[in-house]
Amino acid sequence: MPIPVTIGDRDFPSKKAVGEHCKEIGRRYPQPEAPEQEPLDDDCMTAEPPGVEVTEAEDIAFLHGLLERHPNYAQVFAGRVQGFTVLSYGTNYPAFYIVHATGWPSELKRMQCIDGKPPTQHARVKGALRAAVGDQVTAERTRVFGQPRPQCEVCSEELIHHEDAEVDHADPPFAELADAFIAEHGGIEQFEVAPRRRGGPHEVRLLADEDLEVAWKGFHGEQAMLRVVCKGCHGKRTSEQSKARRA
Ligand SMILES: [Zn+2]
Repeated sequence: MPIPVTIGDRDFPSKKAVGEHCKEIGRRYPQPEAPEQEPLDDDCMTAEPPGVEVTEAEDIAFLHGLLERHPNYAQVFAGRVQGFTVLSYGTNYPAFYIVHATGWPSELKRMQCIDGKPPTQHARVKGALRAAVGDQVTAERTRVFGQPRPQCEVCSEELIHHEDAEVDHADPPFAELADAFIAEHGGIEQFEVAPRRRGGPHEVRLLADEDLEVAWKGFHGEQAMLRVVCKGCHGKRTSEQSKARRA
């Protein structure tokens, strides 16, 4: 029996049908004649993701929907995705890459997402809240990298490239701030995520209620203790937090 799968707001009759749709997207984006995959240069600040940019709003919405089913979506991707590229060759399944606001592109693991679960209301709202404070996070990164010798705030290791660094929340962690704000504003049922991304294809989902979004930005701006840390310290913190959540 084929298992129906819902990706974003679209229903597919089976997992295979989702795969076919991925192939169809791949076919719609002409690839460069001779894709030059040059070795990544250590000195460059950003790495070009492979393939070509996905530009159709419908395709972008599908890929967001697919990624939202990733088992670690809320912790790893929510609010951090800038766009997607597609690399397709022959009749194989195309590869999709996630363009992150900063740092290296990463591959969107299609099967992991197809086998994953649709996001809960809670995960979608948290994703929107995270996206809404993206400019605050970027501002902190810019501030720290504007200093003569930017360092990890936890271990003091010098940060040379943007890719070496992540912005995180010192106490309280993001989830705690978000939960406090949600509780203060009537609970999760009162939060509606905007169905369409505002301001072009790269915008991620934000709250439907703009006043609520403005209130959240103010709340976060006052309460969040943002800091720039190295990848190692960030990874350690993230795994400690997910352990604490499971406990
Ligand atoms: Zn560190």
